[in-house]
Amino acid sequence: MDCIFCKIIKGEIPSTKIFENENVYAFNDINPKAPVHILVIHKKHTKDINDTNSENAHIFSDLFLAVKDISEKQNIVEQGYRIIINNGKGAGQEVFHTHLHILSNETGLGPLLAKSE
Ligand code: AMP
Repeated sequence: MDCIFCKIIKGEIPSTKIFENENVYAFNDINPKAPVHILVIHKKHTKDINDTNSENAHIFSDLFLAVKDISEKQNIVEQGYRIIINNGKGAGQEVFHTHLHILSNETGLGPLLAKSE
């Protein structure tokens, strides 16, 4: 499958690994939008939230359990962190392998969205 995140999981494309277990892989975003910007992906490929069904819904519990672990290891629980999922082209999704962005900054992240015109 021609998916860059599947290639990252397989080690065919390099990445800075932050976390890995049998289900989940997490790595630094190549174009960070905050001092902490980590992408969390499942080893099972789905393209977005709308690919979820009763068989693969565990993907999200696996991802969020990994977020909990990562946030503790990265020491960002106290300062807080934001989870973003861009779902679909119109929402800014560029890579069609379901992923969570973890963003954190000790001086804060600002408003949820930039004001649109
Ligand atoms: P999204 O726009 O939600 O699909 O997010 C895709 C993210 O993947 C962007 O923030 C990119 O900077 C990031 N990205 C794309 N290619 C790579 C890569 N090879 N290594 C790390 N991050 C990447």
